[in-house]
Amino acid sequence: MKTKKTKKPQDLSYVNKNGYEKISPADLKRSEEINKLYMDYIGKAKTEREAHDEAVLLLEAAGFRDMRGHEKSGVKLVPGDKVYRSSEGKTLMALVIGKKPFEAGMHIVGGHTDSPRIDIKQNPLYESGGLALLDTHYYGGIKKYQWVTIPLALHGVFVKPDGRKITISIGEDPSDPVFCITDLLPHLAADQYKKTIGEAIPGEGLDVVAGSIPVAEKDRKEKFKYNVLKLLHAKYGVTEADFLSAELEIVPAGKPREVGFDRSMVLAYGHDDRVCAYAGLKALLDLNGAPEYTSCVLLCDKEEIGSVGATGMASNLFENAASELLNLTSESYSELTLKRGLHNSWMLSADVNALFDPMFPSVSEKKNSAHLNHGVCVTKYTGSRGKSGSSDASAEFMAHIRRIFDRNGVLWQTGELGKVDQGGGGTIAYLMARYGMQVVDCGVGLFSMHAPMELAGKLDIYMAYKGYLAFLKDGRK
Ligand code: MN
Ligand code: MN
Repeated sequence: MKTKKTKKPQDLSYVNKNGYEKISPADLKRSEEINKLYMDYIGKAKTEREAHDEAVLLLEAAGFRDMRGHEKSGVKLVPGDKVYRSSEGKTLMALVIGKKPFEAGMHIVGGHTDSPRIDIKQNPLYESGGLALLDTHYYGGIKKYQWVTIPLALHGVFVKPDGRKITISIGEDPSDPVFCITDLLPHLAADQYKKTIGEAIPGEGLDVVAGSIPVAEKDRKEKFKYNVLKLLHAKYGVTEADFLSAELEIVPAGKPREVGFDRSMVLAYGHDDRVCAYAGLKALLDLNGAPEYTSCVLLCDKEEIGSVGATGMASNLFENAASELLNLTSESYSELTLKRGLHNSWMLSADVNALFDPMFPSVSEKKNSAHLNHGVCVTKYTGSRGKSGSSDASAEFMAHIRRIFDRNGVLWQTGELGKVDQGGGGTIAYLMARYGMQVVDCGVGLFSMHAPMELAGKLDIYMAYKGYLAFLKDGRK
């Protein structure tokens, strides 16, 4: 019997659904591939320097060349050319030159590769109570109580006055020793329990245990400290004074791990923001041929402390690099063309956001929060107390992003950082918006943001990659 076809009425409602309920087998397979590559990347990239160096290896393997070579030779860049430009070994810009001229604008995906951590002070080594210890100053917004009693690794560089650089990484190989910060036993924590969670472990209480064997020299003072100096000198050729010109970072030791019986999540140090930085980088690596608009991926430093300093996005670093790009892609350089090109650019500020956490439902407004594995999260505005400090993206630009993502099968959702007046945060979006370019925040939702180990969903990671790729390829039609 024939059934009469009735036209289904249009569903007027918007439902934010779990991605696993609608993802295709092909996407699921690709998601596992991308996540595997990502886990390999952040397993090696535990600092901004390492994130930069690993990215350069991937770029060079894919045929990208150092843009400074062109700056020296003056050889122009043409559509399809692939270049990168490094600053101080920390911040990286990578480009695929588009068919349209610079003035038409770029499509930019900008993430950051610095993560909250504990830095070693400039004169750090001392001894007390039979221990050699390293004094520290934490970097970024950490909850200090989370960093005690866990295995820690030491990464960074000593730079000698003659310019020689000694790179160290201790605690990642299973045969390496690790470091740790001690905490008080519960038996004696009566006073500590009375303190607020923010005061229980003070900033000066985050000193790292570095050794406990005294040197066998009868007349030597500070025998525990001196033994560490002897070991450092034997292995790396450094002295105590070399700490003065060093950048040493304490990070959680170990590799990222899959989470859950279904392996649907990734637990790792430094998702914020290497997850978006990597997804952007991988999207750029996977571009085929010249895009319509020049594709630009930024891996920035210093975001976690306000994007300040010579390698942060509040500096003129990006603008200077854009000037060089204009110079290399046009017959004549003009500041007006530079300004027009920046103004006409579109940007996804690729940074993480908070997920709705069932352990802490009271801090979020559920229907405006990002949910685990519902897809990449687009955040129209950040800020706090009435959107203060936010780069509020326009409805028009949100509509462009909707078009690009929906057309390319990108699973996505919107998400605010918590309830109104619960707190807040910011990204590099407002710094790029200074040029008048269209910018919106777009990245991966996290549980336990800024904790030693952060938790992210595999589909969200994959959809960030897929979304950035669609955005870079888009021809604005
Ligand atoms: Mn971030
Ligand atoms: Mn952060």
